[in-house]
Amino acid sequence: MGPGPSDVPDRVLGALARPTIGHLDPLFVGLMDDIKTLLQYAFQTTNSLTVPVSAPGSAGMEACFVNLLSPGDTVIVCRNGVFGGRMQENVERCGATAIMVEDEWGEPVSAAKVAAAFAAHPEATTLAFVHAETSTGVRSDTAALCALARDHGALSIVDTVTSLGGIELQVDAWGADAVYSGTQKCLSCVPGLSPVTFSPAAVARINSRTQKVQSWFLDMQLVMGYWGGESKRAYHHTAPINTLYALHESLLMLREEGLEASHARHHRNHLALVAGLEAMGLEMAVAASHRLPQLNLVRIPPGIDDAGVRQTLLTEFNLEIGAGLGALAGKTWRIGLMGHASTATNVTLCLSALGVALA
Ligand code: PLP
Repeated sequence: MGPGPSDVPDRVLGALARPTIGHLDPLFVGLMDDIKTLLQYAFQTTNSLTVPVSAPGSAGMEACFVNLLSPGDTVIVCRNGVFGGRMQENVERCGATAIMVEDEWGEPVSAAKVAAAFAAHPEATTLAFVHAETSTGVRSDTAALCALARDHGALSIVDTVTSLGGIELQVDAWGADAVYSGTQKCLSCVPGLSPVTFSPAAVARINSRTQKVQSWFLDMQLVMGYWGGESKRAYHHTAPINTLYALHESLLMLREEGLEASHARHHRNHLALVAGLEAMGLEMAVAASHRLPQLNLVRIPPGIDDAGVRQTLLTEFNLEIGAGLGALAGKTWRIGLMGHASTATNVTLCLSALGVALA
């Protein structure tokens, strides 16, 4: 019950153990097509450029930046936790300028500040922000932020590593342009893949580039030679075959449950956890209006030994919860209820274990 990776169900672990076949085997190519369709469902998009990058969430992040940005671009980057800072690093390493929009850790991205940044920097080509900040347990209004980018003729890059499968995410309806995620949070798959999706406007920008993408491995035009829809696919890199079996299985499980049912389950278990924590006298650190159900930020009461409590949970109850990060370190815990681990049983276990550790 930490901030990810979440527990991986046996069905997904079983898929990992299937025989490894070739990355151009017709059976495997069929599985790749299924994965694309299942990812389009998870992202709620018809974008044809929807694929898993063969590396973790940070590589999906980097794929979005290196393909969409060119040296000299101006990018508005929102930082309300750890991952906005990682976006800034990406922008600068692309030779672009990052205009930072800062919000307190624990607060959502302010649309008013983003509007002011666009007014001050009409040359900005791109807006980048995190939908679900794992470091703080905060949800930002992705529909509103994508609309702001569109109104200013800019494209949006959206981090959905922690949101995909856990809370509503409507890539097409919200008009998000380059969206990346991870497999290890609410999809409950093993870590190591990063689903990405690019809108037609993002693909048009990629196709009109005058400079080569700085990363050979993450150049989406090259990746599409392997993942593209054409009948003839060419080797680009050796795909992580067994990890893709696992992703396929976890996406099947999501579709079987249904996105809305998955969101409702995450919400229900979150409400039960919050009710139990508050009944124990603990306080949530994020306002109810923008809490993430899959990542719960709890204030550590004064005088309580942060590391000691987490150690007791781990050694006596075999239960991991996350420490606070950055400015929130030592002041908060992060309790994950992600994907397969978002269950009533885990809520009860966590509450009773905390009851013992805090007694
Ligand atoms: N973005 C967010 C919001 C995350 O929570 C994480 C990882 O926790 C990442 C990006 C980076 O993903 P990875 O650790 O898989 O590279």
